[in-house]
Amino acid sequence: MDINKLQRENIKNLRPYSTARDEYKGQASIFLDANENSYGSPLDQNYNRYPDPLQLDLKDAISKIKGVPIENTFLGNGSDEAIDLLFRAFCEPGKDNVIILPPTYGMYEVSANINNVEIRKVDLLPNFQLDLERIAEAIDEHTKLIFICSPNNPTGNSIIRTDIETVLANFNGLVVIDEAYINYAKQRTFIKELTEYPNLIVLQTFSKAWGLAALRLGMAFAARPVIDVLNKVKPPYNINQATQDIALKALENIEQVNDWIKITVAERDKLSTDLAELAMVKKVHPSDANFILIQVDEALNTYNALVDQGIIVRDRSKVSLCEGCLRITIGTTQENEILLEALKTLSKPSN
Ligand code: PMP
Repeated sequence: MDINKLQRENIKNLRPYSTARDEYKGQASIFLDANENSYGSPLDQNYNRYPDPLQLDLKDAISKIKGVPIENTFLGNGSDEAIDLLFRAFCEPGKDNVIILPPTYGMYEVSANINNVEIRKVDLLPNFQLDLERIAEAIDEHTKLIFICSPNNPTGNSIIRTDIETVLANFNGLVVIDEAYINYAKQRTFIKELTEYPNLIVLQTFSKAWGLAALRLGMAFAARPVIDVLNKVKPPYNINQATQDIALKALENIEQVNDWIKITVAERDKLSTDLAELAMVKKVHPSDANFILIQVDEALNTYNALVDQGIIVRDRSKVSLCEGCLRITIGTTQENEILLEALKTLSKPSN
């Protein structure tokens, strides 16, 4: 795979935005280059200064946890930003195409549409695994990206590892494995495989297990040439200073995060068992994530009845292959009990 060929023509020739501090190697003490307020910030922190465009301190801390070198790490304003940048860097509007595998996370399609990039949809099989034959048929010389979400949203299952490896080994474009929910999965991450596959991009996020959705911080891990292209096209200061500071602090609390993961997984497994016993529940799809997809009688009525009780779940009943399904995020123990009681009350007695 030649990353130069893969890039959009205008991106190949792009001269990225540069700042005077790109050359600054740490010896200056007076900064009169960026038209900031030299007197300070109304807050205690030095928020009057632009943040580090490459977020080196934060990447260094992430690297210690993930074991991925800094030069293979890109940080985005949520992984949603990384998804969008992949289209902007690699897909020629009106000419190239990408493959997505529904039912899956909605932003791949939205980003493709924003960027006027053709979408080729290859439905997952009824067991929510990859249809490798049809994926192979859908690929042509203009296919730049394939999005594989594992564990998949909204179905909750992990994609079979050897199937992902087959795609990685046979596709000449970039394979994006979205691991937003990997912390809850039995399957291990693909970040250890980065050295093996130059066309692999792994997306992870601080929005789920790390409990920092409000900060908007996502990670993309890939071979150096891919990361270099993302850095070239990103807005100069895409991760603000507050996010960098707070995330750096949060990384010290990994034990807390690991505890939450254990509790969430235990609650997920308990809720799966309990839901399966309700008469209205036709199927509980096995989950490797922090949510469960269930098929119920009268999904929309059930959804509305829950809303009436102040409980919001996600109605996926109109989504192809998820007909009649609701997606339920794992709540606290107390929230899960309340949900279960509400569904029990709604559940018609089986006879
Ligand atoms: N990928 C998947 C599979 C998701 O479900 C989500 C959010 N629901 C995202 C990415 C976006 O994550 P972020 O908050 O990092 O933009």
